[in-house]
Amino acid sequence: MRGQVGGQSRLYGLLGRPVSHSLSPVMHEAAFLAQGMNYRYQAFQVEPEALPMAVTGLKALGVAGVNVTIPHKEAILPLLDEVTENARLVGAVNTIVHRNGRLIGYNTDGWGFLCALEEAGVRPTGARAVVLGAGGAARAIASHLILAGAAHVAVLNRTLDKAERLVAELTASLRAAKGPSYHLPPFVAGRLASEALIRGADLVVNCTALGMGELAGESPLADSGWLRPGAVVYDTVYRPAETRLLQEAKAAGNQAIGGLGMLVHQGACAWEYWFGRRGPTSIMWAAAKAALAE
Ligand code: NAP
Repeated sequence: MRGQVGGQSRLYGLLGRPVSHSLSPVMHEAAFLAQGMNYRYQAFQVEPEALPMAVTGLKALGVAGVNVTIPHKEAILPLLDEVTENARLVGAVNTIVHRNGRLIGYNTDGWGFLCALEEAGVRPTGARAVVLGAGGAARAIASHLILAGAAHVAVLNRTLDKAERLVAELTASLRAAKGPSYHLPPFVAGRLASEALIRGADLVVNCTALGMGELAGESPLADSGWLRPGAVVYDTVYRPAETRLLQEAKAAGNQAIGGLGMLVHQGACAWEYWFGRRGPTSIMWAAAKAALAE
């Protein structure tokens, strides 16, 4: 049973729109309960025009920390007192800590993705990677694949100029963060159906909206026959648990991994900033899986 909410309770939460289907509240509350922490995690639906007020409200009400999701991850940066180097590099914040009256922004999506890969036994070091999509998730994943030592990273998108902008901006911010002598692997942009780049990839990561919601049943890959034997396919979409991309990749004999692990690990990494220790991933996994199955 959950403990009583009282004067000692601390509030955590999520700012986004929509938030009603988010798995974060059940995942974090299950972890609080298992660790005997009398805290609460509340999802707040925040319209874009209300974001500045919501951020001021976090301070006024003493909310201890929040996660941030679509569509606020980028817009929230200028509203914070401090943004860490990693979040600046990605250009997005998904975790905020309220410390001594200051709001500090972090990004744990990229680390969450790398932890999920590791958990699945996949090492990106030396890999030729293709990232499908050029939105916020693609930014976090492409930058962290480079930081993890990928040998070649291609960002492929329906709208080519967005992929080109992503590559140019991340190249500039990686150089600014790491210094001019930092060795960047080949980092290129292309269209979604770039057959040669996909055929050459060891790791293909879907960061488009294809496969979820209204686009369930659609795949970002024009032809699963383009996957080379041994290539690993990671789909950041986790609802449905098995997207058409994952089904086709499996049928072609490739390792196929769904996006729930990234969600769990970005949440567990947020605990490091909130509480100084990693969240209990096995409990968070179980709670997220159960909620997804409902
Ligand atoms: P976003 O910034 O809105 O980017 C959306 C991307 O999807 C863009 O590249 C867009 O291409 C592409 N896209 C949308 N509709 C398309 C269509 N009909 N055909 C082809 N491409 C299409 O969103 P995001 O935050 O990066 O999220 C992207 C995906 O990652 C979502 O599926 C989300 O669920 C997932 N995600 C998962 C986690 C996790 O923890 N597992 C975390 C974050 C995100 P254009 O540029 O051409 O519009």
